[in-house]
Amino acid sequence: MRVVLLGAPGVGKGTQAEILCRVHRWVHLATGDMLRKAVSQKTPLGQKAERAMSRGDLVDDQVILALIDEKLDETGDSGFVLDGFPRTLEQARGLDAILARREVDLDRVVCLTADDDEVVKRLVGRGRADDTLETIRHRLEVFRDSTQPLIGHYESRSILRTVDGVGDIQEIHGRIQSALDE
Ligand code: AMP
Repeated sequence: MRVVLLGAPGVGKGTQAEILCRVHRWVHLATGDMLRKAVSQKTPLGQKAERAMSRGDLVDDQVILALIDEKLDETGDSGFVLDGFPRTLEQARGLDAILARREVDLDRVVCLTADDDEVVKRLVGRGRADDTLETIRHRLEVFRDSTQPLIGHYESRSILRTVDGVGDIQEIHGRIQSALDE
């Protein structure tokens, strides 16, 4: 299957994407992980992305789309879970075009939900470089302004499912699996 995991920072997309990919032998494509690797290796991509990331802003859409296009080439015909991408309408439209060129489509978009207090608590506990309280608040705003509109983009195609992201990790995995099986 080709799946997108949508949801606020800290909602558990990474954890759930890992479980899904282990169970189904799908490829986990997490743009945040790719960007952090590029930053630590000081590649040209890392240099382009570093400032936006440290502020909790989004990296340029065209940079992200080029990155995903390249990774999908490497992924071949395998199923995949997109985690942290798309994050803007422009990225969602770009993804549609990239997949159309490959003559494939998304099977499901799963939107994981949790309230702000819950995700702030999780992010503060995680302690990543961009997990300061100020940056976390900003990332939540960016999510609301830029990423939430994607829900409408996918709802109109009836591939969207909303899943409660609060609770035991395995239990949440079960909910996501049911949403994929529908
Ligand atoms: P994440 O690990 O998904 O929380 O991403 C960490 C940071 O990487 C974000 O705050 C953004 O600065 C950047 N980033 C990750 N994915 C994207 C994306 N799809 N579009 C723009 N910026 C992104």
